[in-house]
Amino acid sequence: MNKADLTRWSWVEIDRGALRRNTRAYKNLLNPRQRLCCVVKADAYGHGAVECAKIMYSAGADMFAVATVNEGVELRQGGITKPILILSEPPIEAIPTLLEFDIMPSVYTSDFALAYGECAVAAGKVGKYHLAIETGMNRIGVHYTQVLDFVRGINFHRGIQCDGVFTHFATADEPSGWDYKLQCQRFTEAVQAIKDAGFECGIVHCANTPSSMLDPSMHFDMIRAGVGLYGMQPCELSGRVMQLDPVMSVHARVTRVAHPAMGEGVGYGFTYRVPRTRVQICTLPIGYADGLSRTLSNRMDVLYRGERVHQVGNICMDQFMVAIQSNPAHEIPEAEYGDEIIIVGRDGDAEITMDEMARLRGTINYEVACGFGMRLDKVYV
Ligand SMILES: *Cc1c(COP(=O)(O)O)cnc(C)c1O
Repeated sequence: MNKADLTRWSWVEIDRGALRRNTRAYKNLLNPRQRLCCVVKADAYGHGAVECAKIMYSAGADMFAVATVNEGVELRQGGITKPILILSEPPIEAIPTLLEFDIMPSVYTSDFALAYGECAVAAGKVGKYHLAIETGMNRIGVHYTQVLDFVRGINFHRGIQCDGVFTHFATADEPSGWDYKLQCQRFTEAVQAIKDAGFECGIVHCANTPSSMLDPSMHFDMIRAGVGLYGMQPCELSGRVMQLDPVMSVHARVTRVAHPAMGEGVGYGFTYRVPRTRVQICTLPIGYADGLSRTLSNRMDVLYRGERVHQVGNICMDQFMVAIQSNPAHEIPEAEYGDEIIIVGRDGDAEITMDEMARLRGTINYEVACGFGMRLDKVYV
């Protein structure tokens, strides 16, 4: 979308150049035989899956991973032709859609695998899949001790073909820890057992963003990078390995300026009262339904003309207010209808990051970005 087409004075900006640079940076961690799988689940962590996938493709992505069948279909309908992997096993009912749109499921139940094979044969196709191995996170996959039995139980079927084998780390941000090392060992041994028994493993992969950055020994044939592509660090350690460029910024324009008298309340419940004279209350059209969590009420800042100003009052569903006040030491000019403010991003030397917002909310940057992607229009710059 173009800025000129906006019908609401709030939007996220997606920096294509930053996304391209980050994608190349991950590609550069790999040797020419290793692949880069870009994780674009949850609408590319709120950044817009189809647009982002196209940019990532041009920057070297070899495969895309999503969380749901619908997300895979959206990519196909958006013109993405590279392999698409779903990072969990969908219900059997989804199989015709997988085959129609050439989307690979993760597999870890034999009922699903055999139903997939039957449907594929009936459609005159071969259903590719990735075998998920459970190595410690206790979320999905075939338990690492049962992998060989599982493979023996489904491998005979001519309608399915194993395109890859993978696991997922629960503690990749602590690669020197015992928990991480144990998962690595379980995975490595399970893969070896499959190979030793003469079965095809296809693409072997396990590294998410932190593990890609912190532990090259776990790159195998492919890495699955998510959050880092969007310019967010998955943990503190990773920030020392590689600089990333933030991709999403969040913007709004002032829809109203008021000058309430001292003692007047602002917003639902009057959780803020105007403390003195000459306080300007500005309204911005973003609320908790746009990803600006209500738990941030009276606790967050925004950037106005390169300065931090305080958000005041309870954040509403679709709007929030800020107080802009001059003080004797620092004269801020009169706020005006239409002034732009930055909720996440940089303005001169001042910056508000996804990480700052995540800390205030008691969550992680991933969740903050996903939230802003849900309803706000996206402008690709
Ligand atoms: C979400 C996800 C990823 C990407 O994780 P990041 O930390 O964003 O890199 C990789 N693999 C699986 C299985 C996932 O669910």
